[in-house]
Amino acid sequence: MSAVSVPEASAQALRYFRSGNVIWAVELLLGFALPALLLFTGWSARLRSLSSGIAHGHSYPTLVVYLVLLSGLLFSIQLPLTVYVGYVREHAYGLSAQTFSKFALDRLKGLVIGLIVGALVIWVPYLLLARSPTRWWLWTGLLALPFFTLVLLITPVYIAPLFNKFGPMKDKALEGQVLAVAAQAGVEGARVFEVNKSVDTEKVNAYVTGIGRTKRIVLWDTLLARLTPQETRFVVGHELGHYVLGHVWINILISWGLTLVGLYGAHRGAGFLLARFGGRFGFTTLADPASLPLLMLLLSLFSFVIGPASLALSRHHERQADRFGLDLTGDTHAAATAFVALQKQNLAVPRPGLLYKIFRASHPPIGERVDFINSYRPRAAAP
Ligand SMILES: [Zn+2]
Repeated sequence: MSAVSVPEASAQALRYFRSGNVIWAVELLLGFALPALLLFTGWSARLRSLSSGIAHGHSYPTLVVYLVLLSGLLFSIQLPLTVYVGYVREHAYGLSAQTFSKFALDRLKGLVIGLIVGALVIWVPYLLLARSPTRWWLWTGLLALPFFTLVLLITPVYIAPLFNKFGPMKDKALEGQVLAVAAQAGVEGARVFEVNKSVDTEKVNAYVTGIGRTKRIVLWDTLLARLTPQETRFVVGHELGHYVLGHVWINILISWGLTLVGLYGAHRGAGFLLARFGGRFGFTTLADPASLPLLMLLLSLFSFVIGPASLALSRHHERQADRFGLDLTGDTHAAATAFVALQKQNLAVPRPGLLYKIFRASHPPIGERVDFINSYRPRAAAP
């Protein structure tokens, strides 16, 4: 079959791409600057004293009040940018028909869920910091594995449905085809969900999430509306690749390892900074709740440093999943046209350049994916 050519990025897509890079840099800098500001001005220490007053000096309530005040403060400072990036800009590019009330409610829900989860777990590292000031990072890091596992078990079933409706696929004929592809991949009784993302965005996407009994393939309704059944079969084949190749578990284990290293780095870095600037910060030990912005700052720095490596691993998984989907469906033409459709609908730039790839791309650029598909000879024959 003839090769599918990759269209040039539209002028609008290029504008969306360039402004997106500026926004990425601004958000990255804010992620460092805001915690640093709270530390060096002594505001974090003042916020802790205020929290301690409200909580009558009890340690766990102080921690929770501090967490609520800090989260509320950071949420408010970033609110104009959040509204611009998530709402105004998406509408300006015709990428969203979301109502403002849905946008606002989703952000509030996110904040509240973050606070509830935070209040449930924040005492763990602080208790360990108080009991074991030299090994707290190890115990906290070890506990991260069951925590990550629990999050992946719970999120698809209890958290994601708070934002969108998940249900069986509406198109039963297509669902039959999708389940046939799954059976072909050796995944019997795969759970495939359709989610009504059209209330939030015009973009198209699909993903695999969950572990054990909550494992599932989720297809956005926007994708089902715009891709042909053949293209959808390839997308499902790709997602099945993530599923069969165990990418969810690999990611949990790698995140766990990185968390251990990151916490150790934060422990060492905090020791250094506290010895030097403790006077200005208004606290001298990590066991003080006022240290939360310091931990945030050091962990953000760590994730920025390891970002290129974890993005490279993610792109590797995506290439593996693409190959899996091609071998499964044998339909290189539909795979390539699916990516061209994705490029148009998501205002993607097919060849974004090396710097973008290194620092931002969790998926290979669409141009590279189509080039690969055009040159690939799948194991299965086209149906
Ligand atoms: Zn993927």
